[in-house]
Amino acid sequence: MADTAYQIIDHQYDVVVVGAGGSGLRATMGAAQGGLKTACITKVFPTRSHTVAAQGGIAASLGNMGPDHWTWHMYDTVKGSDWLGDQDAIEYMVREAPAAVYELEHAGVPFSRTDKGLIYQRPFGGMMQNMGEGPPAQRTCAAADRTGHAMLHALYQQSLRYDADFFIEYFALDLIMENGACRGVVALCLEDGSLHRFSAHAVVLATGGYGRAYYTATSAHTCTGDGGGMVLRAGLPLQDMEFVQFHPTGIYGAGVLITEGARGEGGYLTNSEGERFMERYAPSAKDLASRDVVSRSMAMEIREGRGVGPHKDHIWLHLDHIDPKILAERLPGITESGKIFAGVDLTREPLPVAPTVHYNMGGIPTNFHGEVVTLKDGDPDAVVPGLFAVGEAACVSVHGANRLGSNSLIDLVVFGRATGMRVAETVKPNSKHAPLPKGGSDLAIERLDHFRHAAGGSPTAEVRVEMQRNMQTHCAVFRTDELMTQGVAELAKTYERMKDIHVTDRSLIWNSDLVETLELDNLISQASVTIAGAVNRKESRGAHAHEDYPERDDKNWMKHTIAWFDGWGGNGGGVKIDYRPVHEYTLTDEAEYIKPKKRVY
Ligand SMILES: Cc1cc2nc3c(=O)[nH]c(=O)nc-3n(C[C@H](O)[C@H](O)[C@H](O)COP(=O)(O)OP(=O)(O)OC[C@H]3O[C@@H](n4cnc5c(N)ncnc54)[C@H](O)[C@@H]3O)c2cc1C
Repeated sequence: MADTAYQIIDHQYDVVVVGAGGSGLRATMGAAQGGLKTACITKVFPTRSHTVAAQGGIAASLGNMGPDHWTWHMYDTVKGSDWLGDQDAIEYMVREAPAAVYELEHAGVPFSRTDKGLIYQRPFGGMMQNMGEGPPAQRTCAAADRTGHAMLHALYQQSLRYDADFFIEYFALDLIMENGACRGVVALCLEDGSLHRFSAHAVVLATGGYGRAYYTATSAHTCTGDGGGMVLRAGLPLQDMEFVQFHPTGIYGAGVLITEGARGEGGYLTNSEGERFMERYAPSAKDLASRDVVSRSMAMEIREGRGVGPHKDHIWLHLDHIDPKILAERLPGITESGKIFAGVDLTREPLPVAPTVHYNMGGIPTNFHGEVVTLKDGDPDAVVPGLFAVGEAACVSVHGANRLGSNSLIDLVVFGRATGMRVAETVKPNSKHAPLPKGGSDLAIERLDHFRHAAGGSPTAEVRVEMQRNMQTHCAVFRTDELMTQGVAELAKTYERMKDIHVTDRSLIWNSDLVETLELDNLISQASVTIAGAVNRKESRGAHAHEDYPERDDKNWMKHTIAWFDGWGGNGGGVKIDYRPVHEYTLTDEAEYIKPKKRVY
C-alpha cells in the first residue's frame, strides 16, 4: 500500500548528505568539489544546527602561543578517551587538524588574534604539553566565545559556492537498503508535506547527537539522533552508546550551560537540607572539584532523596551571597540566562541546576574515511556499502569513553573532509543508478503513516518526558547494576506506550506533533541501546562511572560495544550486544602506540 497511498517525488544524486551542521556542510563541500552531483537535506536551516552553539573553540596543535606538537595532541586525546579511542583514527585527526583550521581561516572564520596577528589559542581541560607531562598547552583556537557560530556561517557560505542542492526543512525518515547496502533515503518536506525519494550512490549521515534522550541536555531540542535511529531500523548496530558526557551545572529543565566560572567566583551547591554537600565529597577542592566528581556527588544527593524541587531531582546553585555588583561585572551572561531560562533573580535566590548531558561519544561506527562499518562474518571492520557517517552522529572512534573539550569541532571538519574525499574517490560523477528495490521505501512510509494516524491514549510529550526522566535517573552520572536494571525495565514499559501513542494533528503540513513523534521513536531506540550497553559494561571507564565496578578493566573491557535494537516486548528481541576490538595501532610509523596507563590529572 505504502508506495501508492502517498505521492512520491523521485530524485537521483551521486551523494546525499543528511545534516547541515559543521560535519554535514564540510562533507557536502567535499563531495561537490569532487564534481559529484550532491544534495544536502536538513530539518532545520543550516545555520540553526547545534554546531552554532559551540563557544569554547576548536583544537589544533598550531603552537601559536607556546610549544605544541601533534603527538602531544594525540597523547592527550588517547588518554582523554580512557584508551577506548582508535589510535589510527586519532592520529589521522590530530595530524590533519592544523590544515583543517587554516582551511577554516581561509574560508572566512574570523578567529581571534594574538598581538602578532596569529590565530588566538586558549588552554582547555586535558590539553597538555610534553606527552601529558605539562604544563598546559594553548591549543584551542577560538573566535571569541562564538567559534561554532563563526564556523557554521563560514561553511554554509562556502558550500553555496559549489553546485550542491540544499533541501532545507526536509525531514529524513529512513534509509533505503538493499542486500546490506544503502541505496538512498526517504524524506518529508515539512513545508508542503510532499514525500521525496532520493536514489544515491552514497548517503552520508551527519545528523548530530541524541542528547534529548535525557531530561536535561545542553544540546538543542533538535538533537534527537535521527541518523542513529535510521541505522538501528536498518538492522545495523550503534557503537559505545553507554558513554554519555555530563556537565555538572546545566539550568534544570532548560539545560542551558552555566559556566564553571560561576563556582570560580564563589558559587556553591546545596541540597534539600540546605547543606553544602561538596564539603563531604571533596573536602579540599569542594565545589571546584573536577566536573565528573561534582556531577557524581550531585547525583548521589539526588539518589539519596536530598534533591530539591517537586520531583527532588535537582540541586541549588547559590550566587545570592555574592555582591550584585560583582555578578553584574563578572557573570553578566549567566545572570541573564538565569532570568530567561529559570525565571530566577540570581542576586536574590538560588538557581536550579542538574548534571546535564553535553555530548554523545557513541554513535554510528565508522572508519577514518567516514565509511560505516559493522561486524559481519567475523570481520569487525566490514564496510556497509553506500553508507557514511560523520560528526557527533558517528563514532570513529576518536573520543572513546570521554571527549576532551574542543575536540568535537575539529572532528567535524577533519572527518567531514575525509568523507568528502572518500566519496569523490569511490563514486564516479553522474554514474548510472540501478532501479531502487521494490518496496524499498515502505519502511519509511509505513512508519510515517502509522504515527500520523496514531490514535492511542498516550500523548507524545508525556511518553517523551517519561523516557527522559527515566534516563536521567537510571543512566546518568551515577550508575549501579540495581539502578540500571530498574531503568531497563521502566524503559521497556515506556516503549510499550509507543504502541498507544496519540498524535493529534493528522495533516502533513508543518505537523510538529508528527515530527516530534518520529523523533521520539528515534530517541527511544537510542536510549535503549545506551542503557543496555551501560548495564552490560562491568567496569568504570571515562564517562561510564560504575559504582559496583569502580576500576577500569582493560583485560576484559578494552573493546567497543556494538548494539542492535529490535524493539522491547512483543516479538522484539530487545537489545543485542557484541564487540569490536579497539584499534591498538597507529596509522603510520611516525606515531608511537600509546600504551594504557591509569588516567590521573
Ligand atoms: C552548548 C554546546 C557547546 C559546545 N561547545 C563546544 C566547543 O566549544 N568545542 C567543541 O569542540 N565542541 C563543542 N560542543 C560539541 C559540538 O558543538 C557538537 O558535537 C557538534 O557541533 C555537532 O555537529 P554535527 O555536525 O555532528 O551536528 P549538528 O550541528 O548537531 O547538526 C545536525 C544536523 O543534522 C540535521 N538533521 C538531524 N536529523 C535530521 C533529519 N531527520 N532529517 C534531516 N536533517 C536532519 C539538522 O538539521 C542539522 O543540520 C558543544 C555542544 C553544545 C551543545
